[in-house]
Amino acid sequence: MNIKLNSNFDQLSENYLFSEINKRVAKYKEYNPNRDIIKLGIGDVTLPLGKNVIEALIHASCEMGKKETFRGYPPEYGYNFLKEAILKYYKRFHVDLDLNSVFISDGAKSDLGNIVDIFGDNPIYIPNPVYPVYLDSNRMSGRDIYYMVGSENNNFLPLPKDNMKKSSIIYLCSPNNPTGSLYNQEELKKWVDFAKENGSLIIYDSAYEAFINDDKYPHSIYEINGAKDCAIEICSFSKQAGFTGLRCGWTIIPMELESENHKINKLWERRQATKFNGVSYPVQRAAEAALSDEGILECKNNINYYMENAKLLSNLFDEKGIYYTGGKNSPYIWFKCPNGMKSWDFFDYLLENANVVGTPGAGFGTFGEGYFRITSFNTHEKTKEAIERLKKVL
Ligand code: PLP
Repeated sequence: MNIKLNSNFDQLSENYLFSEINKRVAKYKEYNPNRDIIKLGIGDVTLPLGKNVIEALIHASCEMGKKETFRGYPPEYGYNFLKEAILKYYKRFHVDLDLNSVFISDGAKSDLGNIVDIFGDNPIYIPNPVYPVYLDSNRMSGRDIYYMVGSENNNFLPLPKDNMKKSSIIYLCSPNNPTGSLYNQEELKKWVDFAKENGSLIIYDSAYEAFINDDKYPHSIYEINGAKDCAIEICSFSKQAGFTGLRCGWTIIPMELESENHKINKLWERRQATKFNGVSYPVQRAAEAALSDEGILECKNNINYYMENAKLLSNLFDEKGIYYTGGKNSPYIWFKCPNGMKSWDFFDYLLENANVVGTPGAGFGTFGEGYFRITSFNTHEKTKEAIERLKKVL
């Protein structure tokens, strides 16, 4: 074959984080077959879907089997019943949204990756460390990328800097994966004011919004005055309602967002109508059920289960006096490796001495080196056992 390929793919680093973790664990098991390894690296939910969600899923699937209620292609931007449920959900945070600003997706990852389609060549600002999708999707499309450094000095929450370029696209993730840290009202307002003053756009990933239980932290960027003039919000049912396997999310593109005399909302409409055929009817009904009053309570029960683990893990780091972020409004705990160890060295140390697996911080960006992520998605029993083991080696 002699066709030209997208040479931007050469800029991507090897996607080796989880395969390297699996490789090292498999090798360890080969030589130590009887060891009980506890996985605190899990970035996926583990509890089953709630009763309300399942009932809605079954009911909608049965509707698909009857002539009178069968439905074909869903609307590209989502059924109104789900969009309305999302508007109602935002009212809990005192945010009023326009129905047409809501786009239903098959999860946040797709929209985070695809949103680059509608923008020209702007400077891109990405936190480091952070969820790798922002970086890789911008690299694939050959954009100029600048890092916003997260460190202990800013508790892994970069704030605007005077030397940042104007008219840029700024990615924010709060609560953050992997650091679990999150912006409060005041800090988020700094970003919104900065974006408005500089003609920039914020892409706000709020996939872990449902883990926020402290009122001082906004659930949505639109809780900040002026955000509808400068921000897109991308969210997901994955962690909120356990939809990692069902697949559903949403993106908010306010009507107010305009650039070069175009409404950004209309560009996204056009893009989605061309390249996306919507989310299945049963899944959208299940998502609607997750946002009903009973559904929200049910989802909250699961989140509380994970947060009990997070609390036990945070207690350990408090007791040991080890620097960490997260664990309070997030399922992730991000801590400093002891004795100045590098992330991968600590990974091996933990695997060999405690038989516990986590995720090396260096896998989330160069500034994650020397840090480590553990999650609260395992069972209480395994988490408690892991804590006992960690106590001995930290
Ligand atoms: N955003 C962040 C910060 C994530 O950590 C994840 C998944 O882990 C996603 C988005 C993707 O979510 P979804 O399952 O909706 O594609």
